[in-house]
Amino acid sequence: MTGTPTGPQLATRVVSRNPSDPGDVVADVASTGIWRTVEAADRARDAHRAWYAGGAAARSAALTSAAHAVEQAAAELADLAVREVGKPLSEARAEVARTVAILRYYSQLPYDATGSVHEPAGGTGFLLTRRRPRGVAGLITPWNFPYAIPVWKAAPALAAGNSVVLKPAPEATACALRLAELLQQTLPDGVFTVIPGGAPEGNALVSAVDAVSFTGSTVTGSAVVRTATARGIPVQAEMGGLNAALVLPDADPARAAADIAAAIAGYAGQKCTATSRVVAVGPALGPLRDALADALRAIPAADPAQPATVCGPLISEQARRKVLDAACDVPLLAGGKPAEGPGWYTAPTLAEQVPSGHQLLREEVFGPIAVLLHAADLDQAVRMTNAVPYGLVTSVHTGDLDAALHGLDGLDTGMVRLNAPSTGVDFHLPFGGTKSSSHGPREQGRSALDFYTSSRTYSLHRATMSAT
Ligand code: NAD
Repeated sequence: MTGTPTGPQLATRVVSRNPSDPGDVVADVASTGIWRTVEAADRARDAHRAWYAGGAAARSAALTSAAHAVEQAAAELADLAVREVGKPLSEARAEVARTVAILRYYSQLPYDATGSVHEPAGGTGFLLTRRRPRGVAGLITPWNFPYAIPVWKAAPALAAGNSVVLKPAPEATACALRLAELLQQTLPDGVFTVIPGGAPEGNALVSAVDAVSFTGSTVTGSAVVRTATARGIPVQAEMGGLNAALVLPDADPARAAADIAAAIAGYAGQKCTATSRVVAVGPALGPLRDALADALRAIPAADPAQPATVCGPLISEQARRKVLDAACDVPLLAGGKPAEGPGWYTAPTLAEQVPSGHQLLREEVFGPIAVLLHAADLDQAVRMTNAVPYGLVTSVHTGDLDAALHGLDGLDTGMVRLNAPSTGVDFHLPFGGTKSSSHGPREQGRSALDFYTSSRTYSLHRATMSAT
């Protein structure tokens, strides 16, 4: 991305480029700036009061209509994600479908119970709890899921009666602005606002809202958490991963390799849930090594607009360079080379015999690259899996249910997927990890509503003296 704002007072531009064809400028808009960010939050606070007072039926109907509007524009939205963030067409279509499903799911939640009734410890009357919206939710999002992540944050916030101000990643500006046009057709003014910009706008937003939900890198997320915590407002942050796939000796090597290759190379590895480390246990190593190298060599880095493409370009030249640099000093079983052409492509890459302490075993590279490791037994595999600062998701490949349920109890990741790629999660269950991968309450499902509301306790007593 070029044109990142260089200072809060400057009239700078937000520019996004097509990763397959960097000469193609997709968005070129003025960045919002600090003062207009604060103004947007103030307007959203006024809008929130009327939105909440309008009642559950109005919120449910608006979210239902929003789902319909997104569904009607599905093909156009998918094409825009292909062009702006290089998402392969089949994945872009699936993301839009998921966005519609998320809006439909949360459209039912305004009718849910918001509290409970209790007996007092002594005397008459009764006690109530009631969850109420926080006010303005500030959402700061990455570029890699340009529709689903903004909506899986916005939909529960709106369902609960909050208004939302979204600061999208600069690289996904056009996707966010188009999404806003569609949602604003069905939502009252000021309830859902997008503010194009970069770090200055993100920082200003954290200083102006009532709750912050962040997704992005661990470095940025940690800074956002510190600022929000200093203000005393609730904050949740979903951040990076360095996820492992564990392959047990009984696993079918071809089946495990197919799932793991998809999790390494799908969308060029640009998912927080992508697989970066593959741990083969005992005799699984030999057959898996060959099958996985073959599976990755069979996935070319290709034009994301083609329906069969699995691995498209990286988001930027800097991102591609990071993958190539990480692979330059280790033995490779596949990949390691930039692909031909003007786009930011690189071939899916598998490294082995990587020395301990190497960057690939410590840091999220965020590209189509993984390392193959060997563990003598399951206990060592679990220790190796846990030996990183992240804890998002682990995939386990085995037909041995006892090993899967008991031997892997020591895994410290927030999610475990059995006989499936590490990527791909259901939106109606809690999503999140441990350690540097996540901070605060879980996103998605009904648990998201807890973050966007706070509980008030009411003690109700008779107004007049009475015998009963
Ligand atoms: P990023 O951290 O560079 O940016 C994320 C957002 O933060 C962007 O909107 C950016 O403009 C904004 N930002 C930057 N500096 C800021 C500041 N000082 N204050 C406030 N906001 C600021 O991340 P990215 O490159 O857009 O996304 C890739 C990262 O996101 C990867 O690390 C990936 O693992 C992570 N990710 C995590 C999840 C998850 O759910 N755990 C999901 C998707 C992506």
